[in-house]
Order: sequence, then C-alpha cells, then structure tokens
Amino acid sequence: MTSKTKNKKSAKVASKQITKLHCPVCKGSMTFFYGVESQKFGRTFRYFRCDNCRHIIVDPILSEKELFEDYDYEPVKIGGAQKKVSGLIFHSPLYHFFFGSKRFVKAVITKYRQRYHKDPKTYLDFGSGNGLNLAYFHELLPAATCIGYERATDGKRFPNTSIRVLQDLTEVKKRKYDIITLFHVLEHIADLEGFAKVLRAIADEHTVLYFQIPYADSLDMKLIHQLKSDFTLHTPYHTNIFSLQSLKQYFQDHGFEVTSVNWEVYQIGSIVMNQNIVVKTVLFLPLLVLGYINKLTKTTPYISLYVKKIGA
Ligand SMILES: [Zn+2]
Repeated sequence: MTSKTKNKKSAKVASKQITKLHCPVCKGSMTFFYGVESQKFGRTFRYFRCDNCRHIIVDPILSEKELFEDYDYEPVKIGGAQKKVSGLIFHSPLYHFFFGSKRFVKAVITKYRQRYHKDPKTYLDFGSGNGLNLAYFHELLPAATCIGYERATDGKRFPNTSIRVLQDLTEVKKRKYDIITLFHVLEHIADLEGFAKVLRAIADEHTVLYFQIPYADSLDMKLIHQLKSDFTLHTPYHTNIFSLQSLKQYFQDHGFEVTSVNWEVYQIGSIVMNQNIVVKTVLFLPLLVLGYINKLTKTTPYISLYVKKIGA
C-alpha cells in the first residue's frame, strides 16, 4: 500500500499504520475493523476482519508476560459459592441455575451420558481460572478425576480432593480426557496451529469437547462503532474472534468436527463486565429480553459449541 513516491518518513509511518495481515484461518485478506489506544500498555491495538470468513484478529498481540499479568485468580472454596460476592442476585443459586457456569458443566456431563450411556471418568478444564468449573464437576461427579490447566495460578488450591490444577502443559498432555471444557480460552490463543496440536494430543474420538467463545457476528460486534463499547473484544486480550465460518474451517482443517453450536444468552451484554450492583440490577431485565432476541436472531455476544475429534 505504500507508494514509492513517498519520502522515507511518511513511508515509515504508513508501514506502522497499515500492517499487511492475512487471516490465520482461511489466509484471506483482512480489513481494519476497530482500534483502541490502550493507556495500560501504552500502544494502540487494532482489530482486523477477514474479507472472506469474517474472522477477527488483533494486532499487535500481547506478550505472554503481559497476557498473564492480569490473570491472578482468587481460588474458590469447594462446596461454596465464589468468594468475591459482588451482589446477592448475581451469585444466588437461581442466577447460577439460569446463567451461571454450573448449568454448562451439567449440560456437558449430560451430553456425554447421552452419547455413551455411562459417566465420564476424566475431566479437564483447560484454562480453569479460579477453579469454579472443577468444583462444580467434582460436586456433580465426585468419583471422576478432575484436572485443571491454568498458567496463572499456583495449582495448589484443591488440597485433599481428586481435583488437581496443573501448570505444566507437558503434564496435561500425558493423557486423554473424556470431557474437556474450554470456557473463554480459544479467543486468547495466538498460535492457532500449535493449539490444534495440543487439542489433538489431549482428545480422542470419544472426547466431548466443549467451547465457549465470543462471536464475531454478534449484535455487539455489529454495533461496536456506535456503542463505543468493546467488551466482547476485551481489548487487547482477545486475539482471535471466530465467525461461524472460521470456526468450522479451523476445526475441519485440524481433524475436528463442530457437531453443534448454541447461541448463549447467559452473559447478557455489559452486566458481567460492570461490577456496579445498581447498574446490573437496573439493566438486568431489559438485557435479558435483548439476550433472547439475540438468541433468536443468532447474534448473541457468546456462543458455545461441541466439537468432536475425527480419527485417531
Ligand atoms: Zn478468513
């Protein structure tokens, strides 16, 4: 895009602003989509969208150090709710029944039982964060082996239970798992090729793989310029935002198949990002209605999907 007639200085500026990027999934050309100047990191992050498959990527990508600096999770207590209670409503059993992750953990176990007519024996929560999903799984199936993989924590938070949190990926890769969940992990992965290899190492053709990810064709993404709110992008922490097309192609290219997709209502707009209990309460009902409209129109901020490994 830089012209040979331009002088050295302007050419240098132009090359900084216009990065020639290709879609990591379909190799199509990408067009500028959204940009944010981050005060924290002292630089501008730009999102680009693929002209062909609508996949979205960020440029530049955070370093590993920068990425993990912010992820210092407070562990949960087994059998209890989250430690940090920001409000009665949003951590009540009723809220978790309808919108919380316990519902999803339950659904994944049900999926496994329907498919194989037996209970899963091994569970891996890849990117286990504060350990909430592991605690739920253990509560539902105490006999199963629950493994978490989390880089950002000390891995010693579940003493005297069958739950273990590993920080070493080599350890994680030593076995295959009946169920693997990845809640809001895939969008943070920069090396998609390498990640597919990891997935192939830890899953076999019987593994029920479950992902939750932000959605590139959500209403939020369509209105991002008008709303001036990039909560789904979580700039600059989200590296890859998948469209349905890029999702299906990515998994197909690496020997997996997307067996079902669900448009999720549970994280309704900005209430999850906004910690103010008053704002949350006021916005709850209107956003719930919007959430269900989004579901009907397949434009929810987040989607969940079941994925199956094809062949050995
Ligand atoms: Zn593409």
